[in-house]
Amino acid sequence: MSSKNVCYVCGSSDFDKRTVEYIYRRQGKYLIVRDVPCEVCLHCGERYYPGDSLLRIEERFREIYEQHALPADAIQVPIEAYVA
Ligand SMILES: [Zn+2]
Repeated sequence: MSSKNVCYVCGSSDFDKRTVEYIYRRQGKYLIVRDVPCEVCLHCGERYYPGDSLLRIEERFREIYEQHALPADAIQVPIEAYVA
């Protein structure tokens, strides 16, 4: 995992290592990946992911959508346009 010296957004140097839910979206298709390691800026909440984990998520996206690999789980998500 890469370590940041300072947050690119707010300049803070306080980070915490966590695992989070990552939502990958491309051309209207989604892949939710759980337990992705990242470092979170404790000041502004910006997340920093190691480059190899994002490559792995893209690879898994292609496996599922292009090569018909089975995901671990699947959900249906309701979608609405906001009406004031
Ligand atoms: Zn920050």
